[in-house]
Amino acid sequence: MFISLVSVPIPCLAAEDETGLKKIVEYDQRTDRLIGFCDKGTGSQHQCNPELEVYIGSDLAKLKEAFQSHVIGGYARVILINPLHKKLPAMVLFLQFTCNCFDINDVSNQFNREIQWRKLIYLQICT
Ligand SMILES: [Zn+2]
Repeated sequence: MFISLVSVPIPCLAAEDETGLKKIVEYDQRTDRLIGFCDKGTGSQHQCNPELEVYIGSDLAKLKEAFQSHVIGGYARVILINPLHKKLPAMVLFLQFTCNCFDINDVSNQFNREIQWRKLIYLQICT
């Protein structure tokens, strides 16, 4: 018996979905970041930022400031890559917490960026 890796191009579809969440913020110990905020600001000044990262480090003032100035997303928005192969699962390409403050231009720009990522994905299959 032997296992070999074979590189073959597999067609993939990208899909986007969104679901409601309980508004919570969690600490990710691995990255030392808070997860669950969508960006700073309130009202008409607010726009969800798909690239937001709230780094805390050892500064408790940053923790306090994050909760005072950021909006907690009530939705999770995900972009999945679905390989068109029965043995390959869907893969999460992108995950964002949001409060639905974004528009068609934001989504279009992001999809164009993610499509560039998709061109870089090359799957290997164990046979
Ligand atoms: Zn938001």
